[in-house]
Amino acid sequence: MTADNDVGDNAPPAEPARPRLTFDLDVDVCVVGAGLAGLTAARELARQGMSVAVLEARRVGWNASGHMLGAVMPGYTAPISDLIARVGFEDARELWGLAQQGADYVRGAVADGAAELASEGALEVSTVDSGEQLISRLQTLGEDFGVEVEGWQAERVRDVLRTPRYFHAIHFPKAFQIDGRRYVHGLAALAEQAGVRIFEDTAVVELDLAGVRKRIATAGGRLRAGQVVLAGSVHVGVPQPRLADTLLPVWRCAALTAPLGERLGEVIGFAGAVGDAAGLNQYRIVDGDRLLWSGPERTLGIGDPVVVPRRHARAIARQIRALYPALGPVEIAEAFGGVVGQTVHGMPQIGELRRGVWVASGFGRQGINTAAMAGQLITRGIVEGDDRWKLFLPFELVWAGGRMGRIAGQALISWSRGQAAAAGVLARYREGARARALVRDEREAAKQAARAARMAAAVGRPLRPPGPRDAAEQAVEPAVPRSITDISTP
Ligand SMILES: Cc1cc2nc3c(=O)[nH]c(=O)nc-3n(C[C@H](O)[C@H](O)[C@H](O)COP(=O)(O)OP(=O)(O)OC[C@H]3O[C@@H](n4cnc5c(N)ncnc54)[C@H](O)[C@@H]3O)c2cc1C
Repeated sequence: MTADNDVGDNAPPAEPARPRLTFDLDVDVCVVGAGLAGLTAARELARQGMSVAVLEARRVGWNASGHMLGAVMPGYTAPISDLIARVGFEDARELWGLAQQGADYVRGAVADGAAELASEGALEVSTVDSGEQLISRLQTLGEDFGVEVEGWQAERVRDVLRTPRYFHAIHFPKAFQIDGRRYVHGLAALAEQAGVRIFEDTAVVELDLAGVRKRIATAGGRLRAGQVVLAGSVHVGVPQPRLADTLLPVWRCAALTAPLGERLGEVIGFAGAVGDAAGLNQYRIVDGDRLLWSGPERTLGIGDPVVVPRRHARAIARQIRALYPALGPVEIAEAFGGVVGQTVHGMPQIGELRRGVWVASGFGRQGINTAAMAGQLITRGIVEGDDRWKLFLPFELVWAGGRMGRIAGQALISWSRGQAAAAGVLARYREGARARALVRDEREAAKQAARAARMAAAVGRPLRPPGPRDAAEQAVEPAVPRSITDISTP
């Protein structure tokens, strides 16, 4: 299938169909939504001995959770500096520690058979030449937040990623990748093994959350539960419209290329995930010679993610060619995507909204570790009364702006892409100009040396060997600004 043809229909891999809820049921916990967040919470609660039912409007993982890339990174979508500004250094550090526990949870679930571990390590590449920013980010991540990171100079980056568009990078050796389309199904299987009952094609249409026992209505049956976990993300809709309004729906698209042969290894020599700091492109090699790539985001005209617009696959093919022209024409074999819930502040919504009513959503484009963390925090909150979820209180449920918010969101995405592209062009222009100036200087120096040699020959005496004056001149010569060196921190 070429990029011009119709592409995939978001169909999940063949999984066992699960029953609808067609009767009334009493449980300790009702989880609304069988995505990553709902299933992790359900599994953990069941492992603590609670009876748990998951109600899913469609199928397990039909949206973002079953159509993602599978890169497990540390931290959050929100920039670390925003986090520190809002909650202070200590709490920001603790929040990052919780996100790391989420990533560790995913590793554990993978070891329990939820999915294959695909590769290790991730590179966050910069499309601009700003060494100072890199050093400051390395210090914050490595020294202040205890994340294992390594700074890579542009030469080292370009050695493994053959594109002039990248400058330096941060290497996260402990980041890892899993099969992003399988994981949610593996998680559902693990949850069922722990005793969770999952009902598909069972949309929650009404919630009565007032009493001690909450009442949950679906078309075919009713549920009564002591606790409710709302993990429906942007689709929670009817029963909780105000909650849904706090999320900006952002469509994210991904594509898998046809096998590209040996030429792929010649341009990409890094086995882990690659993503640019601006969040424009994220990709990695899969199956030895195919590229799995996630690119454009949209907040407008997203429709139903089951219908993947052709232009997204074409846009990804264009991006691959722009970054790696040496690859030549790239055929897209499959395209898929989903809608993620983005909060205004970029942090997930985790916590108890009212007694016995919990929320776990708003994970944005980084949901694997953070949804796992949400499941853990909510379980500890319900079972042990642990109130560490309160670290998320400063990130309130803020209205995402409705249609105007989506228009503003789209404008911001387009503007950021434009800004990042322009900054990249400028950085590459400056790099080219510096290289040209260097060649000019060298030519000039060579000319002068030749002229001096000619003059010396004309007056019939040898060139003066370097003496004390030259040494003194060299000593006061201004130091050439050094580019960043490799820095690694534990
Ligand atoms: C293309 C793409 C690539 C991505 N790559 C990565 C990546 O590499 N790394 C990473 O960390 N993250 C990635 N993400 C983000 C990640 O996939 C999401 O953050 C995460 O899956 C969100 O999980 P969720 O459970 O909150 O939401 P969802 O997956 O949307 O699940 C919510 C579920 O709730 C159900 N539901 C809603 N309302 C109701 C109702 N009333 N009754 C019953 N059920 C209901 C929905 O049907 C849905 O199945 C990517 C996302 C996309 C789209």
